[in-house]
Amino acid sequence: MKVLKFGGTSVGSAGSIKTVLSILKQQGTNGGNPVTVLSAMSGVTNLLVKMAESAAVGESFTAQLAELERKHFDVIKELMEVQAQNPVFTRLKIYFNELEDLLQGVYSLRELTAQTRDLILSYGERCSAFMISKIAAQHFSNAVFVNAADLIKTDSAFGYAKVNMELTEMLIRNFYGENKDKLLFVTGFIASNDAGRVTTLGRGGSDYTAAIFGSALNAEEIQIWTDVNGMMTADPRMVKKAFSLPELSYTEAMELSFFGAKVIYPPTMIPAFLKKIPIVILNTFDTSFGGTYIKHDCGLSNLPIKGISSINEVSILNVQGSGMVGKAGFSGRLFSMLAREQISVILITQSSSEHSITFAVNPADALKAKALIEHEFELEVLAKKLESPDVEDGLSVLAIVGENMKHTPGVSGKLFHALGRNGINVRAIAQGSSEYNISVIISRGDLAKALNAVHDAFFVELNKTLHVFCLGTGNIGTTLFRQLNNHTEFLKQHNGIQIKIAGISNTRKMMFDSDGINLDNWKDKLEASATAADLPAFIEQMKQMNLPNCVFVDNTASPTPISFYQSVFEANISVVTCNKIGNSASYTQYKTFKDTARKHGVDFYYETNVGAGLPIVRTLKDLMMSGDRVIRIEAILSGTISYIFNNFKGGVTFHDVVKTAQDKGYTEPDPRDDLRGTDFMRKMLILARDAGYVLEPGDVEIESMLPQSCLDAGTVADFYTELNNETKFFADMNAKAESQGKVLRYIGKLEDGKVSITLQMVGEDHPFYTLSGSDNIISFTTERYIERPLVVKGPGAGAEVTAAGVFADIVNVGN
Ligand code: ADP
Ligand code: ASP
Ligand code: MG
Repeated sequence: MKVLKFGGTSVGSAGSIKTVLSILKQQGTNGGNPVTVLSAMSGVTNLLVKMAESAAVGESFTAQLAELERKHFDVIKELMEVQAQNPVFTRLKIYFNELEDLLQGVYSLRELTAQTRDLILSYGERCSAFMISKIAAQHFSNAVFVNAADLIKTDSAFGYAKVNMELTEMLIRNFYGENKDKLLFVTGFIASNDAGRVTTLGRGGSDYTAAIFGSALNAEEIQIWTDVNGMMTADPRMVKKAFSLPELSYTEAMELSFFGAKVIYPPTMIPAFLKKIPIVILNTFDTSFGGTYIKHDCGLSNLPIKGISSINEVSILNVQGSGMVGKAGFSGRLFSMLAREQISVILITQSSSEHSITFAVNPADALKAKALIEHEFELEVLAKKLESPDVEDGLSVLAIVGENMKHTPGVSGKLFHALGRNGINVRAIAQGSSEYNISVIISRGDLAKALNAVHDAFFVELNKTLHVFCLGTGNIGTTLFRQLNNHTEFLKQHNGIQIKIAGISNTRKMMFDSDGINLDNWKDKLEASATAADLPAFIEQMKQMNLPNCVFVDNTASPTPISFYQSVFEANISVVTCNKIGNSASYTQYKTFKDTARKHGVDFYYETNVGAGLPIVRTLKDLMMSGDRVIRIEAILSGTISYIFNNFKGGVTFHDVVKTAQDKGYTEPDPRDDLRGTDFMRKMLILARDAGYVLEPGDVEIESMLPQSCLDAGTVADFYTELNNETKFFADMNAKAESQGKVLRYIGKLEDGKVSITLQMVGEDHPFYTLSGSDNIISFTTERYIERPLVVKGPGAGAEVTAAGVFADIVNVGN
């Protein structure tokens, strides 16, 4: 026979109760009729708690009572034939009247004892099980209602009663034996003590009821029907990528549920474990799901851990003092006292010096625990051998669980790397001696981020998600979004990377979406956004969202965002930028960015600062990291100037070439910004710094290719006039080169720690002679590449290649 337990949501509406009945219809009767254990309708237990607490402080509970009544009556009206409804209404009405009397008593006395509280809570399960048994009776003539309080006997620890297993099992076996032909619909969660007073088995305890019945009746299987696809690798409400586990051991299930996986109540595993009865977690709302099996002989799993669970709210107490050192039995005394007082300790860590013990408890117990310790150790505190304990709130526990941890080195390294990289501070650590779990205490605000980051780190076969915040929707930004959008599927399939654009801002508007902005229509969405652009607010919101694997992308050419980089790194967010201004201003700033990024374990990628998408920065970095030394770098890194010199031939004037370049969009609005060499200087400076030289912008020697008159001209129009006036100057320059069979090239050079940019005539033997169009070229002469330099050459400007470079940087974050 089987025991089936249906949780709150499974019996939470007329629709789901219908599904429960259809599931029951498919059950066989092999080895005896199944037993069905039922929870209170979803939300009812919480509502009862609220009503009891309201009554105890003299607040009204009538509205909630009416809500409770309506919730049940609506189901009866929908699922029962009219003539059968009345007796059920009558019985439930009696329950509600009793409940009202009880609450009235609490209200009058302004006192809510644990015993009364349990009695009040018991109405949830009594109402639902009674009601469902009657609905079921329309389909199964042998359906009967069973109040498990008559069968499960416990001590008097109200709220969390301990079961007398021997007596209980006997009572259940007898009852089942006497009712062999019946289909039992049993209340979950509730029991009674020797005196017949109602007790409860702890929140979520209906699962336990099912296991108690399963054990008593030697069931072949205990089925826990709930609202998710079994036990998952993490709480699916917090981790969207959580996936269902096909099987796990009793210990693993126990550890996961103890640390917050509320899909099953931890004590449930004990009776099942003792009798080796498999527990199957199934989904009432997706009956095609095959179930999670918690059982004795689990096959070998290739997952390093089985799951990650968390307890959202805990407080920690820190007990310290010299009195603890070497005192055998101190912690024994401390924890037995807490156990005696029914304070459940979630985890404990003790420093090896024995100077302090930190332990976590439910926040509701924290102050009581503090008071109890102060009382118990009053003498030690007076003698200053012990400090009065500190209480710290607003914390959560995250635990990774799995039997494979025992055989796999590096598991804790991976955990702490994922936490550290995401800037999550660990307050305390505990590893069970079984090595089945490692738990950490972190700040409550970091929990969602931590769960997702740790999940990504351990389940690598899943896609890693990068959360990207983009500044700038000009040419590069727009092109990047198009490239990302076209490439999403490929990245997922082939690289296991999922990129979500979590925020976009331009100078007018901004918008956010932690689930990822749809890139099909980002432009319209941004236009329609009600939020005006505000850079400090954008950065703040990005930090507040606290998403794992976060990247800030600066696709602007503006100096404004640069001042935020530092704080972005400090928030453990990586930066990808095509904006050169940050790295080419003062050396101190450049160095600070690098150091801060390193300190916070995040990336700072700026490949597109030099030569757009060409692999220049990366190549230099690889050379340096592998121990090579740069002897000389020669480069043409201005696409604009390349274009101009490549087209300055065959009788055209310099003026006309510049004008054409401008018309084609190759120049800055004022072409002198290119011709003066400022942009080129920035690129050379960044390379020199990356090659290890401490240089300031003023250290770069720039030979101007323009005569003074052109530089001095006022407006852009005046500049063009001057260019015309200087036609001969430029023509002579060109003629001179041509007469020697050479071409003009504006070349940057780094040698002996000095950077210069000069106009040179180069002949056919020079590698830069053949440069065409707006290409860039760079040659690295190093200790290893000394005979023939390493040359990188290709298109070094344009939105398409620059966006591609930014794209590549983003994808590399975290690798
Ligand atoms: P029921 O009312 O059926 O007893 P619960 O609400 O007690 O259901 O437990 C099911 C819920 O547990 C799920 O809806 C899910 O949000 C939560 N949960 C937390 N951790 C996990 C996990 N690791 N796997 C599956 N569910 C989890
Ligand atoms: N109804 C009880 C609770 O909400 C027991 C259960 O659902 O398992 O805690
Ligand atoms: Mg539950």
